[in-house]
Amino acid sequence: MGTPHHAAPAARRHGFPQTRRKEREVLLAQQSARQGPVAVSVLGPPAAGKSSLTATLASRHRGLIFRLREYARHRAAHDEGLAQTMRTSTDPLGWVPDPVALSLIDHALHGPFRPSPGILLLLEGFPGNPVQAVHTAGVLDRMGVELHVVELLVDQESARRRAQTRRVCPACESGSADEPHRPATAGPDGGCARCGGPLRARRDDTADLLAARTGRFRQHHPRIRREFQTRGVPWHTIDTRCSPAAVVAAAEAALGICPSLHPDPGALIP
Ligand SMILES: [Zn+2]
Repeated sequence: MGTPHHAAPAARRHGFPQTRRKEREVLLAQQSARQGPVAVSVLGPPAAGKSSLTATLASRHRGLIFRLREYARHRAAHDEGLAQTMRTSTDPLGWVPDPVALSLIDHALHGPFRPSPGILLLLEGFPGNPVQAVHTAGVLDRMGVELHVVELLVDQESARRRAQTRRVCPACESGSADEPHRPATAGPDGGCARCGGPLRARRDDTADLLAARTGRFRQHHPRIRREFQTRGVPWHTIDTRCSPAAVVAAAEAALGICPSLHPDPGALIP
């Protein structure tokens, strides 16, 4: 299980057909050995490409994507106490206090996000701090769920560029009070490729908020890593400077998700 923390860049590990054949055999063996449900915490600084990776993994592997803030907003619609807590939050990034975050993850993992075999549970940008990490590792362990971390590495300039250029679609994410978050693709006319509606930048991608979010990430990340590694949670690091497809392939290889489950396995490993 132990993948070195500083794994080789994805492009290098996917370079040669012989390596790929070998890799595929290993993946098949891992897949057939896997019994119970799997949860994957996808971590990395803002604009590292977490949303893009979880969206792709979810569509290829029957994934469920958990985002704490989205879930909090969803729950707040039925829970006036929580709604009040969120309205009166003084946190500059709008984070909910830890006791609330812990009760939300408990509620999610025993409810709509309950891990089950055959479903890939993707915790996007969660846990956000060491308290959440310790709690979540404990809950998943008691549920018999295998937890992995995929950490995306990005350099500051690429993150800044990605934050500046990425867009979301308010229409495709309507129906709730959520701030649009999921990556949207632009069509030839610049509108949403899916619905044709206007795209816009994510509100938390403004330079000030991006810097604050990056600072928060740097503050908590080393201790999240320490807590997870102390508990033996496999930690896979992926360099995002290669192509998005290579990042997906590297994540699938690290997690031992069998590419033959994909309708077109040839697209990944010839
Ligand atoms: Zn749209």
